[in-house]
Amino acid sequence: MGFKVLFDGYSEFKDNIYRANCSCVLVKGPPNVIVDTMTAWDEEKLLKALKEESVDCKDIEYVVCTHGHSDHIGCNHLFKHAKHIVGFSVSHKDQYYTEPCFQAGEEYIISDKIKVIPTPGHTMQDVTVILETDVGIVAITGDLFEKFEDLENDQLWKSAGSDSEELQMQNRKKILEIADFIVPGHGPIFKVPQIYKNS
Ligand SMILES: [Zn+2]
Repeated sequence: MGFKVLFDGYSEFKDNIYRANCSCVLVKGPPNVIVDTMTAWDEEKLLKALKEESVDCKDIEYVVCTHGHSDHIGCNHLFKHAKHIVGFSVSHKDQYYTEPCFQAGEEYIISDKIKVIPTPGHTMQDVTVILETDVGIVAITGDLFEKFEDLENDQLWKSAGSDSEELQMQNRKKILEIADFIVPGHGPIFKVPQIYKNS
């Protein structure tokens, strides 16, 4: 199993306009998984990036969106063969349900090396994808972490919106404990500095 960050997320406030797009990750299985599909205007660039990885849309078995905001779900429709996990909801065609394991605080197992865990805070239904890779544990967290800089500056993740700062704080701490690398919602992948372990 390998993974590739297809696009680094970003967020910036410039000339009075706030612009943001999410990190988008391809997990090469089997099963193939795509995590967060950016905005509805990113279809072309996403298709191009997948082609460069020799992956066809129909080869994607799972779409996981870390939460339901529009800059994380925009191209879900490209993956019609996949099961769609958006926050706590799971769907395929018109079959739809809220996954009980997320509500119970438990993990959803995609494969022995790919799991989805509930990490509410940014929204009350945020999830994080946990990958067991050759380089260690990689957590694709969505906006639980905005970007590397928010480790030192709480304002960065709080000002990006938090439905429960307390839960978000708890889940951030949990991910910092278990992950070697974090793919944040709106910044490049980073290695978790040792000082955030066992603190
Ligand atoms: Zn976001």
